Amino acid sequence: MSFSADVVTLFPELFPGPLGASVIGRGLGEGRWSLRATQLRGFATDRHRTVDDTPAGGGAGMVLKPDILAAAIDAVSPADDPRPRLLMSPRGVPLTQARAHALALGPGAVIVCGRFEGVDQRVVEARQLEEISIGDYVLAGGEVAAMVLLEAVVRLIPGVLGAAESHAEESFEDGMLEYPQYTRPQTFEDREIPAILISGDHGKIAKWRRAQSEALTRTRRPDLLKK
Ligand code: SAH
Repeated sequence: MSFSADVVTLFPELFPGPLGASVIGRGLGEGRWSLRATQLRGFATDRHRTVDDTPAGGGAGMVLKPDILAAAIDAVSPADDPRPRLLMSPRGVPLTQARAHALALGPGAVIVCGRFEGVDQRVVEARQLEEISIGDYVLAGGEVAAMVLLEAVVRLIPGVLGAAESHAEESFEDGMLEYPQYTRPQTFEDREIPAILISGDHGKIAKWRRAQSEALTRTRRPDLLKK
């Protein structure tokens, strides 16, 4: 059984979007993962297909209604669904490479995309939605965040990246940023590829890369070294 992603959204037409391109899209075509985007508005019950209402207690904007959202979640994810139910949210736990790996090994995910001011807190509790953030900034909706999460996860599903595109040495895989990369030409605007990389000495190259990774991580992301 391959990784199955369900997305609940007011903008299903945005999918697969970038997830249809390159290796991620190839994996979709090959059935290594599947994607279904469900229109939340399809679960509205009134004539105007209302999905949102004003915030209790006052304030700007609109909030997604819990009853409509719960109906949509229930339609795509039965009570015994083994997949985690995620809500894209700036208040969530930050997405990490480790979490992406864990999700990639699992059965898939049900992903709820918020809009406006977000969703009624009661549906978060009642449907055990786990809030996940893609960073400390606010987007207009959860769709792009869901795509970011799926792209990070799907490329880790076995067989999606070819051997030539391995991720074993990438940034975050060992708690560090990746070393700098170079390719031909040998000289670019008077800048040479570091001599060690063309020395053919694989032991020295590995040591150099490790030192570069450490130095880069120490200056740019000391928080990673602490972990
Ligand atoms: N009022 C909310 C922000 C709502 S933004 C707050 O202050 O916390 C509208 C929707 O965009 C959210 O419901 C969420 O689904 C999505 N979103 C915005 N920023 C995000 C982020 N950093 N990570 C994940 N989803 C985000």
